[in-house]
Amino acid sequence: MTIQDIQAVQELLATPKKIAIIPHRGPDGDAMGSTLALYHFLLKNNHQPVVMAPNEFPDFLAWLPGSETVEVYEKERVKCTAILNEAELIFTLDFNALHRTGEMETVLKTLTVPFIMIDHHQKPDDYATVMYSDTQFGSTCEMIYNFITYLGQKSSIDKTIATCIYTGILTDSGSFRFPKTTGNTHRIVADLIDLGVENTVVPTLLFDNSSYNRLQLLGRALQNMQLIPEKQTSYITLTQAELNEFHFVKGDTEGIVNYGLSIKGIVFSAIFIENQEEKIIKISFRSQGAFDVNEFARNHFNGGGHINAAGGKSEESLSATVAKFEELVHQLNI
Ligand code: 5GP
Ligand code: MN
Repeated sequence: MTIQDIQAVQELLATPKKIAIIPHRGPDGDAMGSTLALYHFLLKNNHQPVVMAPNEFPDFLAWLPGSETVEVYEKERVKCTAILNEAELIFTLDFNALHRTGEMETVLKTLTVPFIMIDHHQKPDDYATVMYSDTQFGSTCEMIYNFITYLGQKSSIDKTIATCIYTGILTDSGSFRFPKTTGNTHRIVADLIDLGVENTVVPTLLFDNSSYNRLQLLGRALQNMQLIPEKQTSYITLTQAELNEFHFVKGDTEGIVNYGLSIKGIVFSAIFIENQEEKIIKISFRSQGAFDVNEFARNHFNGGGHINAAGGKSEESLSATVAKFEELVHQLNI
Protein backbone atom coordinates (compact mmCIF):
# COMPACT_ATOMS: atom_id res chain seq x y z
CA MET A 1 0.00 0.00 0.00
CA THR A 2 1.24 3.51 -0.75
CA ILE A 3 1.35 6.22 1.92
CA GLN A 4 -1.49 7.96 0.04
CA ASP A 5 -3.58 4.78 0.18
CA ILE A 6 -2.97 4.42 3.90
CA GLN A 7 -3.91 8.05 4.49
CA ALA A 8 -7.03 7.67 2.36
CA VAL A 9 -8.12 4.64 4.42
CA GLN A 10 -7.32 6.42 7.68
CA GLU A 11 -9.52 9.32 6.58
CA LEU A 12 -12.35 7.00 5.58
CA LEU A 13 -12.15 5.26 8.95
CA ALA A 14 -11.73 8.45 11.01
CA THR A 15 -15.42 8.62 11.90
CA PRO A 16 -17.72 5.69 12.78
CA LYS A 17 -19.35 4.26 9.67
CA LYS A 18 -21.75 1.60 8.46
CA ILE A 19 -19.48 -0.76 6.57
CA ALA A 20 -20.25 -3.81 4.44
CA ILE A 21 -17.46 -6.37 4.08
CA ILE A 22 -17.86 -8.75 1.16
CA PRO A 23 -16.09 -12.01 0.31
CA HIS A 24 -16.40 -13.80 -3.05
CA ARG A 25 -19.20 -16.19 -3.87
CA GLY A 26 -18.43 -19.70 -2.63
CA PRO A 27 -16.37 -18.26 0.21
CA ASP A 28 -13.40 -20.32 1.39
CA GLY A 29 -11.21 -20.15 4.52
CA ASP A 30 -9.31 -17.11 3.30
CA ALA A 31 -12.45 -15.24 2.22
CA MET A 32 -14.25 -15.88 5.53
CA GLY A 33 -11.10 -15.51 7.67
CA SER A 34 -10.20 -12.15 6.12
CA THR A 35 -13.72 -10.69 6.20
CA LEU A 36 -14.30 -11.76 9.81
CA ALA A 37 -10.85 -10.53 10.92
CA LEU A 38 -11.66 -7.13 9.42
CA TYR A 39 -15.15 -7.25 10.97
CA HIS A 40 -13.73 -7.69 14.47
CA PHE A 41 -11.10 -4.99 13.84
CA LEU A 42 -13.71 -2.46 12.64
CA LEU A 43 -16.05 -3.33 15.51
CA LYS A 44 -13.22 -2.55 17.96
CA ASN A 45 -12.85 0.80 16.22
CA ASN A 46 -16.47 1.79 16.83
CA HIS A 47 -17.74 1.16 13.31
CA GLN A 48 -20.88 -0.79 12.41
CA PRO A 49 -19.52 -3.51 10.17
CA VAL A 50 -21.41 -6.40 8.62
CA VAL A 51 -19.95 -9.30 6.69
CA MET A 52 -22.20 -10.13 3.75
CA ALA A 53 -21.45 -13.31 1.83
CA PRO A 54 -23.03 -13.64 -1.64
CA ASN A 55 -24.06 -17.24 -0.83
CA GLU A 56 -23.65 -19.61 2.08
CA PHE A 57 -20.25 -20.46 3.53
CA PRO A 58 -19.32 -24.09 4.20
CA ASP A 59 -20.02 -25.72 7.55
CA PHE A 60 -16.36 -26.33 8.33
CA LEU A 61 -15.99 -22.56 8.77
CA ALA A 62 -19.02 -22.12 11.03
CA TRP A 63 -16.85 -22.15 14.19
CA LEU A 64 -15.08 -18.93 13.12
CA PRO A 65 -15.73 -16.17 15.66
CA GLY A 66 -18.44 -13.87 14.33
CA SER A 67 -19.67 -16.27 11.63
CA GLU A 68 -23.11 -16.25 13.30
CA THR A 69 -23.44 -12.57 12.34
CA VAL A 70 -22.75 -13.11 8.63
CA GLU A 71 -25.58 -12.08 6.30
CA VAL A 72 -26.10 -14.20 3.18
CA TYR A 73 -27.29 -12.18 0.20
CA GLU A 74 -28.88 -15.01 -1.78
CA LYS A 75 -30.87 -16.10 1.31
CA GLU A 76 -32.24 -12.64 2.19
CA ARG A 77 -32.08 -10.40 -0.85
CA VAL A 78 -34.39 -7.64 0.40
CA LYS A 79 -32.74 -7.26 3.80
CA CYS A 80 -29.25 -7.46 2.31
CA THR A 81 -30.00 -4.96 -0.45
CA ALA A 82 -31.19 -2.51 2.22
CA ILE A 83 -27.98 -3.02 4.22
CA LEU A 84 -25.88 -2.42 1.10
CA ASN A 85 -27.83 0.71 0.23
CA GLU A 86 -27.21 2.08 3.73
CA ALA A 87 -23.50 1.26 3.82
CA GLU A 88 -21.14 4.22 3.79
CA LEU A 89 -18.11 2.15 2.86
CA ILE A 90 -17.61 -1.23 1.17
CA PHE A 91 -14.68 -3.60 1.54
CA THR A 92 -14.30 -6.36 -1.05
CA LEU A 93 -11.91 -9.06 0.15
CA ASP A 94 -10.25 -12.02 -1.55
CA PHE A 95 -11.56 -11.16 -5.04
CA ASN A 96 -10.99 -8.40 -7.55
CA ALA A 97 -13.87 -8.45 -10.04
CA LEU A 98 -17.45 -7.73 -8.98
CA HIS A 99 -18.86 -10.62 -11.03
CA ARG A 100 -17.27 -12.94 -8.44
CA THR A 101 -20.17 -11.98 -6.15
CA GLY A 102 -22.74 -13.52 -8.52
CA GLU A 103 -26.20 -11.93 -8.41
CA MET A 104 -25.08 -9.43 -5.80
CA GLU A 105 -23.02 -7.69 -8.50
CA THR A 106 -26.14 -5.93 -9.81
CA VAL A 107 -26.64 -4.18 -6.46
CA LEU A 108 -22.94 -3.46 -5.89
CA LYS A 109 -22.74 -1.74 -9.28
CA THR A 110 -25.41 0.78 -8.27
CA LEU A 111 -23.55 1.91 -5.12
CA THR A 112 -21.65 5.19 -5.17
CA VAL A 113 -19.84 4.96 -1.81
CA PRO A 114 -16.09 4.23 -1.72
CA PHE A 115 -14.88 0.65 -2.23
CA ILE A 116 -11.68 -0.71 -0.71
CA MET A 117 -10.25 -3.85 -2.33
CA ILE A 118 -7.84 -6.11 -0.46
CA ASP A 119 -6.87 -9.06 -2.62
CA HIS A 120 -4.11 -11.29 -3.95
CA HIS A 121 -5.49 -12.43 -7.33
CA GLN A 122 -4.17 -11.43 -10.73
CA LYS A 123 -5.59 -8.74 -13.01
CA PRO A 124 -7.78 -6.64 -10.71
CA ASP A 125 -10.76 -4.81 -12.19
CA ASP A 126 -10.94 -1.06 -11.74
CA TYR A 127 -13.84 -0.51 -9.30
CA ALA A 128 -12.16 0.41 -6.02
CA THR A 129 -11.25 3.81 -4.58
CA VAL A 130 -8.38 2.19 -2.67
CA MET A 131 -6.74 -0.96 -3.96
CA TYR A 132 -4.42 -3.08 -1.87
CA SER A 133 -3.91 -5.72 -4.53
CA ASP A 134 -0.74 -7.81 -4.61
CA THR A 135 -0.23 -11.26 -6.12
CA GLN A 136 2.95 -11.76 -4.07
CA PHE A 137 0.82 -12.77 -1.12
CA GLY A 138 -0.35 -16.31 -0.49
CA SER A 139 -3.53 -15.15 1.21
CA THR A 140 -5.77 -12.14 1.73
CA CYS A 141 -5.50 -12.85 5.46
CA GLU A 142 -1.77 -12.15 5.40
CA MET A 143 -2.63 -8.83 3.72
CA ILE A 144 -5.21 -8.04 6.42
CA TYR A 145 -2.47 -8.43 9.04
CA ASN A 146 -0.37 -5.93 7.06
CA PHE A 147 -3.35 -3.65 6.46
CA ILE A 148 -4.05 -3.34 10.19
CA THR A 149 -0.33 -2.85 10.81
CA TYR A 150 -0.09 -0.11 8.14
CA LEU A 151 -2.95 1.70 9.86
CA GLY A 152 -0.75 1.80 12.96
CA GLN A 153 -3.07 -0.53 14.85
CA LYS A 154 -1.10 -3.77 15.09
CA SER A 155 -1.63 -3.75 18.85
CA SER A 156 -5.38 -4.11 18.31
CA ILE A 157 -4.92 -7.60 16.84
CA ASP A 158 -6.27 -9.82 19.60
CA LYS A 159 -6.79 -13.58 19.80
CA THR A 160 -10.12 -13.37 17.91
CA ILE A 161 -8.73 -11.36 15.00
CA ALA A 162 -5.57 -13.49 15.03
CA THR A 163 -7.60 -16.70 14.82
CA CYS A 164 -9.48 -15.45 11.74
CA ILE A 165 -6.23 -14.36 10.07
CA TYR A 166 -4.52 -17.64 10.93
CA THR A 167 -7.38 -19.59 9.33
CA GLY A 168 -6.98 -17.91 5.94
CA ILE A 169 -3.20 -18.17 5.94
CA LEU A 170 -3.42 -21.85 6.84
CA THR A 171 -6.08 -22.77 4.25
CA ASP A 172 -4.79 -20.69 1.32
CA SER A 173 -1.19 -21.85 1.82
CA GLY A 174 -2.18 -25.54 1.82
CA SER A 175 -0.94 -25.71 5.42
CA PHE A 176 2.17 -23.59 4.74
CA ARG A 177 3.41 -25.50 1.70
CA PHE A 178 2.36 -23.52 -1.40
CA PRO A 179 5.05 -21.42 -3.13
CA LYS A 180 3.97 -18.02 -1.80
CA THR A 181 4.59 -19.10 1.78
CA THR A 182 7.50 -16.89 2.86
CA GLY A 183 9.58 -16.20 5.91
CA ASN A 184 7.28 -13.26 6.50
CA THR A 185 4.25 -15.54 6.40
CA HIS A 186 5.83 -17.63 9.15
CA ARG A 187 6.85 -14.54 11.15
CA ILE A 188 3.23 -13.34 11.03
CA VAL A 189 2.01 -16.80 12.04
CA ALA A 190 4.49 -16.77 14.94
CA ASP A 191 2.98 -13.46 16.09
CA LEU A 192 -0.52 -14.88 15.78
CA ILE A 193 0.40 -17.89 17.90
CA ASP A 194 1.91 -15.57 20.51
CA LEU A 195 -1.43 -13.73 20.54
CA GLY A 196 -3.11 -16.96 21.58
CA VAL A 197 -4.17 -18.70 18.36
CA GLU A 198 -4.66 -22.35 19.17
CA ASN A 199 -2.55 -23.66 16.33
CA THR A 200 -3.10 -27.30 17.18
CA VAL A 201 -6.88 -26.89 17.47
CA VAL A 202 -7.65 -24.74 14.41
CA PRO A 203 -6.35 -27.32 11.87
CA THR A 204 -8.50 -29.97 13.55
CA LEU A 205 -11.58 -27.74 13.39
CA LEU A 206 -10.90 -27.08 9.70
CA PHE A 207 -9.67 -30.40 8.39
CA ASP A 208 -10.78 -33.16 10.73
CA ASN A 209 -14.50 -32.61 10.64
CA SER A 210 -15.57 -34.68 7.62
CA SER A 211 -18.82 -36.56 7.65
CA TYR A 212 -18.83 -40.25 6.74
CA ASN A 213 -20.65 -39.28 3.54
CA ARG A 214 -17.93 -36.83 2.61
CA LEU A 215 -15.26 -39.50 2.84
CA GLN A 216 -17.39 -41.88 0.78
CA LEU A 217 -17.78 -39.13 -1.84
CA LEU A 218 -14.01 -38.60 -1.76
CA GLY A 219 -13.62 -42.33 -2.37
CA ARG A 220 -15.86 -42.10 -5.43
CA ALA A 221 -14.00 -39.04 -6.69
CA LEU A 222 -10.66 -40.84 -6.40
CA GLN A 223 -12.08 -43.84 -8.25
CA ASN A 224 -13.28 -41.54 -11.01
CA MET A 225 -9.81 -40.03 -11.45
CA GLN A 226 -8.37 -40.23 -14.95
CA LEU A 227 -4.73 -39.83 -15.91
CA ILE A 228 -3.21 -38.29 -19.01
CA PRO A 229 0.33 -39.45 -18.19
CA GLU A 230 1.99 -38.06 -21.33
CA LYS A 231 0.91 -34.60 -20.17
CA GLN A 232 1.50 -35.26 -16.45
CA THR A 233 -2.16 -34.44 -15.92
CA SER A 234 -4.98 -35.96 -13.89
CA TYR A 235 -8.61 -35.05 -13.57
CA ILE A 236 -11.63 -36.01 -11.50
CA THR A 237 -15.33 -35.81 -12.31
CA LEU A 238 -18.36 -35.81 -10.02
CA THR A 239 -21.87 -35.88 -11.45
CA GLN A 240 -24.87 -34.39 -9.68
CA ALA A 241 -26.20 -37.95 -9.25
CA GLU A 242 -23.01 -38.93 -7.42
CA LEU A 243 -23.22 -35.83 -5.21
CA ASN A 244 -26.83 -36.74 -4.40
CA GLU A 245 -25.91 -40.36 -3.68
CA PHE A 246 -23.56 -39.20 -0.91
CA HIS A 247 -25.89 -36.47 0.38
CA PHE A 248 -23.53 -33.71 -0.68
CA VAL A 249 -23.43 -30.59 1.45
CA LYS A 250 -21.48 -27.43 0.72
CA GLY A 251 -17.79 -27.85 1.41
CA ASP A 252 -17.74 -31.61 0.80
CA THR A 253 -15.73 -31.29 -2.43
CA GLU A 254 -13.28 -28.76 -0.98
CA GLY A 255 -9.67 -29.89 -1.45
CA ILE A 256 -10.44 -33.01 -3.50
CA VAL A 257 -8.67 -31.53 -6.55
CA ASN A 258 -5.38 -31.57 -4.63
CA TYR A 259 -5.32 -35.37 -4.57
CA GLY A 260 -4.60 -35.28 -8.30
CA LEU A 261 -1.31 -33.51 -7.66
CA SER A 262 -0.30 -35.98 -4.96
CA ILE A 263 0.39 -38.60 -7.64
CA LYS A 264 4.11 -38.82 -8.41
CA GLY A 265 4.92 -36.97 -11.62
CA ILE A 266 1.55 -35.21 -11.98
CA VAL A 267 1.89 -31.44 -12.34
CA PHE A 268 -1.60 -30.45 -13.49
CA SER A 269 -4.90 -31.55 -12.00
CA ALA A 270 -8.53 -30.60 -12.39
CA ILE A 271 -11.91 -31.48 -10.93
CA PHE A 272 -15.22 -31.09 -12.76
CA ILE A 273 -18.29 -30.91 -10.56
CA GLU A 274 -21.77 -30.91 -12.03
CA ASN A 275 -24.15 -28.38 -10.48
CA GLN A 276 -27.66 -29.00 -11.78
CA GLU A 277 -29.22 -26.11 -9.87
CA GLU A 278 -26.86 -23.52 -11.35
CA LYS A 279 -26.73 -25.38 -14.68
CA ILE A 280 -22.95 -25.26 -14.76
CA ILE A 281 -19.92 -27.46 -14.36
CA LYS A 282 -17.78 -25.90 -11.63
CA ILE A 283 -14.10 -26.52 -12.26
CA SER A 284 -11.00 -26.26 -10.06
CA PHE A 285 -7.47 -26.39 -11.42
CA ARG A 286 -4.20 -26.96 -9.57
CA SER A 287 -0.62 -27.10 -10.82
CA GLN A 288 2.84 -27.62 -9.48
CA GLY A 289 5.68 -25.52 -10.90
CA ALA A 290 5.56 -23.22 -13.91
CA PHE A 291 2.29 -24.23 -15.60
CA ASP A 292 -0.09 -21.27 -15.13
CA VAL A 293 -3.60 -22.52 -14.38
CA ASN A 294 -4.87 -18.95 -13.98
CA GLU A 295 -4.15 -18.33 -17.68
CA PHE A 296 -5.66 -21.70 -18.59
CA ALA A 297 -8.84 -21.03 -16.58
CA ARG A 298 -9.11 -17.48 -17.91
CA ASN A 299 -8.55 -18.43 -21.56
CA HIS A 300 -10.71 -21.52 -21.76
CA PHE A 301 -13.12 -21.82 -18.83
CA ASN A 302 -14.36 -18.36 -17.97
CA GLY A 303 -12.42 -18.21 -14.73
CA GLY A 304 -9.19 -17.15 -13.10
CA GLY A 305 -7.24 -17.31 -9.85
CA HIS A 306 -3.54 -17.80 -9.26
CA ILE A 307 -0.65 -19.47 -11.13
CA ASN A 308 -0.99 -22.74 -9.19
CA ALA A 309 -4.66 -22.64 -8.11
CA ALA A 310 -7.55 -21.39 -10.18
CA GLY A 311 -11.15 -22.09 -10.98
CA GLY A 312 -13.68 -21.65 -13.72
CA LYS A 313 -16.98 -22.88 -15.08
CA SER A 314 -18.60 -24.33 -18.15
CA GLU A 315 -22.17 -24.17 -19.35
CA GLU A 316 -21.76 -27.27 -21.51
CA SER A 317 -22.52 -30.80 -20.31
CA LEU A 318 -20.04 -32.63 -18.11
CA SER A 319 -18.96 -34.90 -20.95
CA ALA A 320 -18.57 -32.02 -23.43
CA THR A 321 -16.59 -30.04 -20.85
CA VAL A 322 -14.28 -32.96 -20.16
CA ALA A 323 -13.84 -33.59 -23.90
CA LYS A 324 -12.85 -29.94 -24.40
CA PHE A 325 -10.43 -30.21 -21.47
CA GLU A 326 -8.81 -33.36 -22.83
CA GLU A 327 -8.36 -31.77 -26.23
CA LEU A 328 -6.79 -28.66 -24.71
CA VAL A 329 -4.48 -30.72 -22.50
CA HIS A 330 -3.21 -32.67 -25.49
CA GLN A 331 -2.15 -29.40 -27.09
CA LEU A 332 -0.32 -28.19 -23.97
CA ASN A 333 3.42 -27.93 -23.71
CA ILE A 334 3.77 -29.68 -20.37
P1 5GP B 1 -11.00 -23.16 -5.92
O1 5GP B 1 -10.56 -24.09 -6.98
O2 5GP B 1 -10.44 -23.53 -4.59
O3 5GP B 1 -12.46 -22.87 -5.93
O4 5GP B 1 -10.32 -21.76 -6.29
C1 5GP B 1 -8.94 -21.63 -6.51
C2 5GP B 1 -8.60 -20.17 -6.74
O5 5GP B 1 -9.20 -19.73 -7.96
C3 5GP B 1 -9.15 -19.26 -5.67
O6 5GP B 1 -8.24 -18.22 -5.46
C4 5GP B 1 -10.43 -18.74 -6.25
O7 5GP B 1 -10.74 -17.47 -5.75
C5 5GP B 1 -10.13 -18.71 -7.74
N1 5GP B 1 -11.35 -19.03 -8.52
C6 5GP B 1 -12.15 -20.11 -8.37
N2 5GP B 1 -13.16 -20.10 -9.25
C7 5GP B 1 -13.03 -18.97 -9.98
C8 5GP B 1 -13.79 -18.37 -11.05
O8 5GP B 1 -14.79 -18.90 -11.52
N3 5GP B 1 -13.33 -17.19 -11.53
C9 5GP B 1 -12.19 -16.60 -11.04
N4 5GP B 1 -11.82 -15.42 -11.58
N5 5GP B 1 -11.47 -17.12 -10.05
C10 5GP B 1 -11.86 -18.30 -9.51
MN1 MN C 1 -7.45 -16.17 -1.03
